[in-house]
Amino acid sequence: MKLVFATHNLNKLAEVQKMLPKSIELLSLKDINCFDDIEETATSLEGNAQIKANYVTNKFGYNCFADDTGLEVSSLNGAPGVFSARYAGEPSNSEKNMQKLLSKLHGKSDRNAQFRTSICLNLNEKQFLFDGICTGKILTNKQGEKGFGYDPIFQPKDYNSSFAEMTSEEKNKISHRGLAIQKLIEFLKQLN
Ligand code: IMP
Repeated sequence: MKLVFATHNLNKLAEVQKMLPKSIELLSLKDINCFDDIEETATSLEGNAQIKANYVTNKFGYNCFADDTGLEVSSLNGAPGVFSARYAGEPSNSEKNMQKLLSKLHGKSDRNAQFRTSICLNLNEKQFLFDGICTGKILTNKQGEKGFGYDPIFQPKDYNSSFAEMTSEEKNKISHRGLAIQKLIEFLKQLN
């Protein structure tokens, strides 16, 4: 089955591709010649995932899934949340986002946080939502070089290393996106 993953982010595409069974042929936006900048104007992760999946299905006619992820920090009332990519303004910049978050948390003892991913799947005229959560805490300094986004300052619960110190295989097993994708895969498998 051909299935579009509505993303321009090659890191994410590579992460997901590794987790998919071979029977599912994953296509990127580039593969279907979609170079549009799909605006994420919703106020929730679910809403943004829906906007992206619907754009591809309506304009290009493909079955498609899209995800949206936010980092929700307890002591900041869930911020940056849906604004995680552009927390320090646009154009989005991971280094600036991390520095802003570290300074907002300076001196705070509660550093609990979670990554949450929402996935919207459009399949044969029906729509399905899946989510994945990874709880943990925000470190006081960056650790590690791997990954992307906030990975160097996020340490998942029950681990001593940051996401940026893990291989993508290790991260995929426990990450928000990995868990949401697993739910998506289980769902797709039981259709056969
Ligand atoms: P997106 O919806 O996946 O594009 O995620 C929005 C923003 O959240 C990204 O720009 C990253 O800053 C951050 N983010 C998403 N997933 C991850 C992750 O797995 N690790 C670190 N940061 C992430």
